[in-house]
Amino acid sequence: MILDLFKLDQKVAIVTGANTGLGQKMCVALAEAGCKVCGVARRSCDETKSLIKEGYFSEVIADLSDLSNADYVVDMAIKQFGRVDILVNNAGIIKREDAINVKMEDFDQVLTVNLKMPFLLSQACAKHFIDSGKGGKIINIASMLAYQGGVRVVSYTASKHAIMGMTKALANEWSQYNINVNAIAPGYMATNNTQALRDDEKRSQEILDRIPAGRWGLNDDVMGAVLYLASDASNYVNGETINVDGGWMAR
Ligand code: NAP
Repeated sequence: MILDLFKLDQKVAIVTGANTGLGQKMCVALAEAGCKVCGVARRSCDETKSLIKEGYFSEVIADLSDLSNADYVVDMAIKQFGRVDILVNNAGIIKREDAINVKMEDFDQVLTVNLKMPFLLSQACAKHFIDSGKGGKIINIASMLAYQGGVRVVSYTASKHAIMGMTKALANEWSQYNINVNAIAPGYMATNNTQALRDDEKRSQEILDRIPAGRWGLNDDVMGAVLYLASDASNYVNGETINVDGGWMAR
């Protein structure tokens, strides 16, 4: 039956940035489909845990700006649930500044969290997926700024263009091992990431005026896309980025 393809029973997922925002709801979506979820965050995921039935969520506390934590995160997930089948590289940061004033340490930090750590986690999971002989799913979180330039967010734009490119590059090398590497590009979603934009009345209205759906995205809006890309329903989808944007890119 077609709906069986979406079941994630016996699967284990790592989701980074699991304590809040889009990551929190992606954890809920995967767990509701039967998956055990290892949430990675630099602070407690108690709120996420409270939304998920007992036994289906555990947390790993790690600072994802420290690249030496990549193997630790994957090792901990395997220790907690015995295996890993799905990696969602969701954690991300944005720093707003005129390009002319951007400091290299800030640029580096954004690239580290948004790109380098997702690469290292993907690499560690891919080794595990290949060794298991069962393949796996890697889902990166891109952005409208994987396509567009944006304003005052040069490091973020660079990181999101890069993660979309990396999604294709890894798909080219790893699809042969039954590893599906894909991405989700959320549009303008009402999370901490966009608080500054939503606080700016003029900018907020400009953004709303451009969204065909006529509203900011909600955390719940990414649940379907992550389930699809994590499940057998997407087994022949490789290197793709799915926009969940209320029509922003169609405009
Ligand atoms: P968010 O609420 O700010 O979530 C970002 C998550 O990343 C938080 O859990 C955050 O933890 C975590 N994180 C950041 N730096 C970390 C670090 N050094 N170590 C561990 N965790 C760290 O924003 P969001 O909108 O849900 O963002 C999720 C993803 O969607 C990001 O990749 C973002 O770029 C992307 N995205 C968002 C939008 C949007 O409109 N909201 C649009 C396109 C793409 P803390 O809570 O501790 O900071």
